[in-house]
Amino acid sequence: MLHKFSYKRAATLQEAVTASARPDAHILAGGTDLLGCLRDEVFTASTVVSLNGLKEIKGISARPGGGLRIGALTTLTEIAENKKLLADYPVLAQAAASAASPQLRNQGTLGGNLCQRPRCWYFRGNFPCFRRGGDLCSAMDGENEYHAIFGGDPCFMVHPSDTAPALVALDAKVTIAGPKGPRTIPLASFYVLPKDDFLKETVLAPGEVVTEILLGPAPAGSKSVYRKVRERGAFDFAVTGAAIVVTLAARKVSGARIVLSGVAPAPWRSEAAEKAILGKPLDAAAITVAAEAAVKGASPLARNGYKIALVKGVIEEILTAMA
Ligand SMILES: Cc1cc2nc3c(=O)[nH]c(=O)nc-3n(C[C@H](O)[C@H](O)[C@H](O)COP(=O)(O)OP(=O)(O)OC[C@H]3O[C@@H](n4cnc5c(N)ncnc54)[C@H](O)[C@@H]3O)c2cc1C
Repeated sequence: MLHKFSYKRAATLQEAVTASARPDAHILAGGTDLLGCLRDEVFTASTVVSLNGLKEIKGISARPGGGLRIGALTTLTEIAENKKLLADYPVLAQAAASAASPQLRNQGTLGGNLCQRPRCWYFRGNFPCFRRGGDLCSAMDGENEYHAIFGGDPCFMVHPSDTAPALVALDAKVTIAGPKGPRTIPLASFYVLPKDDFLKETVLAPGEVVTEILLGPAPAGSKSVYRKVRERGAFDFAVTGAAIVVTLAARKVSGARIVLSGVAPAPWRSEAAEKAILGKPLDAAAITVAAEAAVKGASPLARNGYKIALVKGVIEEILTAMA
């Protein structure tokens, strides 16, 4: 049942900040996640604050000095089809194209995709989940085939976004408007692990609104790919995936960022895998070492050990294709 809430369509960013600072206010972008959560009573809202009148946070534009600015209200379809992204940052266009279904991509926005709530069935169902004020993570000893193998304790949800790992691999920054003014931080620092605070998935405080994502210029010689493994070919969340950005100079790897999806409560960067290929030719030996390094430290639960082989396979597949 959808509980009553007041609705505010913000005419300015400042209005959005002020209205969303109210207790129990929630921001509405495309509504593809928020409205489902409210209807299913995953949580309630006193106020729903729509950003949809804010033209200044829509669209993709060039930044002075190179790189791109993507407004938070840009749809996933716009990102998947943008020619500049397809040419220079394919990892992001591929990630956006792999998310959800065509209808959801037409409606869902980048800001909403980055801030969507967990898809864990214990969070979405009626269970005493930590994130809903409960006192345990039922996934730990329960139906945990889709849950985290890294960074899980005490909550084993996996971050559902496909665009987030791609953007972390691109070392993107996120600008956040808020009651204290705007701040810009690396997207890699935007997500909060359960060990630090299991009530929050992001660093957003009340009244804070994601306004834009900033990409630096794509380095010459860089290649990037997002590969997602899902249970069915139609719309589905990642069981495991990887966003990889590699720069090659004189046939050796001069830069690498490897970020996993579907395996942790936040996009999971594997610096060990990056180190395994840095400074080396991208050959079979280095790729095997990188794939092994990526799964070091994984702590699978009773039913999700299969993700270890998937992580290795996805990394090997992407790097081999890049080579
Ligand atoms: C059936 C189904 C399948 C899906 N499959 C995938 C998938 O495979 N991969 C994937 O990545 N996603 C998937 N999704 C999620 C989908 O991509 C998201 O629902 C969508 O991107 C959210 O965007 P939105 O604009 O509709 O967000 P909304 O629903 O409007 O908002 C989502 C959340 O983000 C907050 N929020 C929105 N915008 C901002 C902002 N600018 N600043 C701060 N907070 C904000 C809202 O308050 C809310 O909590 C799926 C969703 C469904 C329903």
